[in-house]
Amino acid sequence: MSLISEHVAELNLVDHHCHGLVMEDLPRGEFELLATESDWPAPPPTTWFDSPLGTFIRAECAPVLDLPRHCSPEDYLQRRAHLGVAEVTGRLLRDSGIGEFVVDTGFHGDRVSSPRQLAEVSGLPAHQVTRLETLAQTVAPGASAEGFVRDVHDAIQAAALTSVGFKSIIAYRFGLDFDPTPPGPAEVLRAASEWLSACETAGSWRLDHPVLLRHLLWEAVPLQRPIQFHVGYGDSDITLHRCDPSQMTGFLRATVGSGTDITLLHCYPFIREAGILAQVFPHVYLDTGLAVTHAGASAGTLVRESLEVAPFGKVLFASDAYGLPELYLAGSLLWRRAVGELLDEWVASDAMGRDDALRYASWMAGDNARRVYGLEEAT
Ligand SMILES: [Zn+2]
Repeated sequence: MSLISEHVAELNLVDHHCHGLVMEDLPRGEFELLATESDWPAPPPTTWFDSPLGTFIRAECAPVLDLPRHCSPEDYLQRRAHLGVAEVTGRLLRDSGIGEFVVDTGFHGDRVSSPRQLAEVSGLPAHQVTRLETLAQTVAPGASAEGFVRDVHDAIQAAALTSVGFKSIIAYRFGLDFDPTPPGPAEVLRAASEWLSACETAGSWRLDHPVLLRHLLWEAVPLQRPIQFHVGYGDSDITLHRCDPSQMTGFLRATVGSGTDITLLHCYPFIREAGILAQVFPHVYLDTGLAVTHAGASAGTLVRESLEVAPFGKVLFASDAYGLPELYLAGSLLWRRAVGELLDEWVASDAMGRDDALRYASWMAGDNARRVYGLEEAT
């Protein structure tokens, strides 16, 4: 009888959190910075190819580009440039086995492909997730406090019609230890006025006012679209200890029964905390995207933690790929292997029945995401 891992290797994945691709040739420095969450070059004499993800790229992406495993960074980048970004993207996306994308368009959306472009290049469905803070920032310049509050409301209502979900980066802009209660109208107006005048002075609109960040969330909650929360591991502007999802327990408690699901993204190193929340609260889900990609050969440990206590109907697949098509392959291959190995182990020890293992693998690979984001209806 075939192994569960062989089945998982062939599953069509729904990538419930990813971004667009840079569709132009990249100089080495830029390629390397897209292969790390750091904002700085690796300290010489090392490079970002000398990391778990860099090692993965040279081991697993190299053969897709007709190179030997474990090739040098120079050979890899030379071959990549020779083939051209369209060919490289096509090959890596095909090998990733991802069948459907749910794309967060709020992070440097002008630099990477839109969901429509991603759908064109892959020939696969790509749905949009709207980032709340980015949306608010776009309506802010020149607005009065009253106008801003009204326009934010209208923009979020409109986005609910074109998006399969919302995304919050309150973890970056404040922390997950935010006040879980909805701010009142007068408090929101006062906050809008404070923030807009500070932005006018600074000449830049970066939404970081805690009252407005909460207001955005509570504008989105009644719309019953899933809200994705960045959790844990991320860029250098994160304050990690304030990104533990157990710090937003009050908000999770307050939104049970709202009809709006909460998906916790990345979760590393708080995967166990996220797993507990996913078990306890009926509307909470988690993934290990981004973390699995950057863990490379250690991805199995992370995936194992994500399946310790979270029910199998609460675990989602995400690559969190941004910019490089290599990240789609890394996210999918590492996650598939880890899930496959674990389920094989459980079936071999008779801790889990084979039919259950096959069913749960399909749930986590795509069925859970299709249900949460209503993708059948969206396609
Ligand atoms: Zn992301």
